Amino acid sequence: MAAAEPKTVEKTTTRGGPKKPSQIKGLFEGLWVTLRALTSRSQVVQYPHVKEEPHQRARGVIGLLEENCTVCMLCARECPDWCIYIEGHKERREPRREGGKPRTVQVLDRFDIDFALCMYCGICVEVCPFDALHWSPEYEYSELEIRDLIHDKDRLGYWDTTKPPAPRLGYYKAAK
Ligand code: SF4
Ligand code: SF4
Repeated sequence: MAAAEPKTVEKTTTRGGPKKPSQIKGLFEGLWVTLRALTSRSQVVQYPHVKEEPHQRARGVIGLLEENCTVCMLCARECPDWCIYIEGHKERREPRREGGKPRTVQVLDRFDIDFALCMYCGICVEVCPFDALHWSPEYEYSELEIRDLIHDKDRLGYWDTTKPPAPRLGYYKAAK
């Protein structure tokens, strides 16, 4: 059987050799992109000397309105990262009306969010049936120790005070 002929490979680029028109076009396109980037306004700010004002509805950190939380655990169950830790206990309370039955209420003992694990998806905020979780645009809470990124209910309660006021009814409809 005859030996196969070796394939000849066409050389498309040669260092220092003549350039094809498509290569020259590509070179100018690249230079044009560089020139545009050099002359356009910088998008970078010198943080922390210069601070950008985040959008009012930015997902900076999650705040907890403790009085609204019924310890239903829905947020913790739906969190895809399992980074919400809730503990509570039941307490008997006086009936609301005279002659009524004593009530059983859930009392929140622990509500922690580990922001080292959180991926800011917002599912917990969306699923809370009692409007106890809200986004705040605050973003300055970096830590030297990763374990300090676990925020307890007091800290989450503080973040809740930094949330923007709710937009008036029909705001988003009018903005469309
Ligand atoms: S934003 Fe998403 S990942 Fe973060 S705590 Fe809520 S559900 Fe979990
Ligand atoms: S879903 Fe809302 S009410 Fe239920 S435990 Fe979470 S924050 Fe509390």
